[in-house]
Amino acid sequence: MKQDPAFYADLHCHSTFSDGTLTPQELIHLAKRIGLSGLSITDHDTLEAYPDAMKHAEEAGLELLPGVELSASHQGQSVHILGYAFSLKSDAIRRLCEKHRERRLKRYHDILKVLEAHDMVLPGEDILRRHPAGSIGRPHIALAMMEKGYVSSVEEAFKKYLGKRKPCHVPGNAFSVDETLDAIRQAGGLAILAHPHLISRASTVSELLKMPFDGIECFYSRFTQKDNKRWLRIAQNRNWLATGGSDFHGAVKPHISLGCAWVSEDLFRTLMNHYIKANAHE
Ligand code: AMP
Ligand code: ZN
Ligand code: FE
Ligand code: FE
Repeated sequence: MKQDPAFYADLHCHSTFSDGTLTPQELIHLAKRIGLSGLSITDHDTLEAYPDAMKHAEEAGLELLPGVELSASHQGQSVHILGYAFSLKSDAIRRLCEKHRERRLKRYHDILKVLEAHDMVLPGEDILRRHPAGSIGRPHIALAMMEKGYVSSVEEAFKKYLGKRKPCHVPGNAFSVDETLDAIRQAGGLAILAHPHLISRASTVSELLKMPFDGIECFYSRFTQKDNKRWLRIAQNRNWLATGGSDFHGAVKPHISLGCAWVSEDLFRTLMNHYIKANAHE
């Protein structure tokens, strides 16, 4: 998909602070190596990768835009919302991330109990020790299941046990879309509906498209040009931003490479200018 523009930016990837397998520093060095000019690290429900990542990006000469991917739910469907260009010091967004941390920890222990009932025993405290500050999620459990030989891939763990309607699924009970949009707004950021094609119920997508988002993710790994066009038309009709990124996770999703979906300089500049303007006083 990349056609070698002078400037390209990947606005969606995960570090070891959530369920990615590269540290923020490794992500930044990889981004530089493959020729990206801009990046946003969008960990699930945590800002822990920043501001340390800012320091490394500055040293490497890479433009880094503050980002996060917040889990929400609507009509029982999981909805991911990307926040960009917000203040990293905002209490509103930090409070929401803290609530997610508690929610995730509780769900983690609940999932381990269900797995135990299915004769799969995992070293719960060891896994947590490896992720002391970050946002614990199902991929960490899936990797531990692989290590124990219960499954042969992360994909298999989701397909057989951890995914929706599978025997060891525990609902996430994430917060509402309204509450999530509110926190991003209060932090001065922009809210983007992430990978809309992954929301299976069409009526939920229709409802979401009536909500006050600032944009929609139109470029995503493994999107065809037809997909791109469909979501671009929706963005244009609403005068929304059309963002994009790979959703790179490292070894958790080995088929997705950093930079395989990206945005051009114009869009990146729009987001960066929003951030600079909103944070000029800090
Ligand atoms: P959680 O945030 O704990 O609910 O876990 C959801 C995350 O798991 C998603 O954001 C993906 O990164 C990952 N995930 C979901 N489904 C799969 C799958 N089939 N294979 C690999 N990773 C997955
Ligand atoms: Zn993830
Ligand atoms: Fe997501
Ligand atoms: Fe993601």
